[in-house]
Amino acid sequence: MLSLEHIRQICSGGISISEPLAPMTSFRIGGPVDIYIEPPSVQELVAIVRYLRETESPYVVLGNGSNLLISDDGLRGVALNIERHFSDVTLERGVVSAGAGIRLSKLVDFCVRNGLAGTEMLAGIPGTLGGAVIMNAGAYGGQISDHLIDVTLLRAEELRTLKKEECGFRYRNSDVRQDIILSARFRLPKGDEEDLRMRRKELLLKRNAAQPVNLPNAGSIFKNPEGRYAAQLIEECGLKGRRFGGALISERHANFVVNTGDALATDVIEAINVIRHTVFEKTGVELEPEIQLLGFPEDVISPLHGVRQS
Ligand SMILES: Cc1cc2nc3c(=O)[nH]c(=O)nc-3n(C[C@H](O)[C@H](O)[C@H](O)COP(=O)(O)OP(=O)(O)OC[C@H]3O[C@@H](n4cnc5c(N)ncnc54)[C@H](O)[C@@H]3O)c2cc1C
Repeated sequence: MLSLEHIRQICSGGISISEPLAPMTSFRIGGPVDIYIEPPSVQELVAIVRYLRETESPYVVLGNGSNLLISDDGLRGVALNIERHFSDVTLERGVVSAGAGIRLSKLVDFCVRNGLAGTEMLAGIPGTLGGAVIMNAGAYGGQISDHLIDVTLLRAEELRTLKKEECGFRYRNSDVRQDIILSARFRLPKGDEEDLRMRRKELLLKRNAAQPVNLPNAGSIFKNPEGRYAAQLIEECGLKGRRFGGALISERHANFVVNTGDALATDVIEAINVIRHTVFEKTGVELEPEIQLLGFPEDVISPLHGVRQS
């Protein structure tokens, strides 16, 4: 059984009970987690994970909560947030080393200021480096893995450094999703600082024009299927602007579901299920969620069935 007293003995970082998670997500949705911990160092993180595994307690890692839908009932067990204490970034002999908790916008800023190219297209992605690595986040033709050298992570209770080639990066996916990402190193080509600033600005303006920036959301709900755009398929099926309780399929970008103020996780789940079924029935395309669902039963996304209409 999990003992809060024992956690307090092995962790000197922030610990709280029944911590509401909605404010920690970009969707502003989700119930509380039983125990919330901000481990202050790798050593303490390892000790906590070892203890959680010994006691068979469920745990998740949170980054900036920008790719998450958390259940209305919240999460049982522990949420570990490494954003606060794992966000250093350095440049030494042409190698950028960054902690997993650093926000992508800060990492990009650091690279641009040092005249290093190849990250500027990631500036508008509101997550941390850790969340970006496990998802191989990307935009406008670039992804976080492009200039990566290696990733240091906690696999079970073992600290390991994996070369990029060992991480199995692919479109919005990787083979390190069961691990806790601690840091990553990059070697980036040189670029002109002013050009990089301009490019970053252009892409941010483009992003702001295309996405619903004034209502809480979690970015793209679905991955783009091979050779297609999820947003286009959803729009073609006439689903743009459809409302599910407090959740709305965005008028501006159909692959975004926005929280109009009082959306529940169940509203978003209903939107996801209706979109998947409608798109499958009308086009035969199976949309796969890109957002990560936490605290739901496995069958919350209902299986696609039936014969598609011609
Ligand atoms: C407005 C908006 C625009 C977006 N645009 C894009 C885009 O253009 N491209 C894109 O790829 N994504 C985009 N996203 C989605 C999101 O920002 C990215 O997926 C981001 O990388 C998630 O990082 P995070 O720190 O917020 O992760 P979280 O949402 O906190 O977590 C996501 C997953 O990563 C895991 N995780 C987080 N940190 C760690 C860690 N250190 N170790 C192990 N696992 C971890 C969590 O357990 C969870 O499973 C967008 C989101 C929003 C809200």
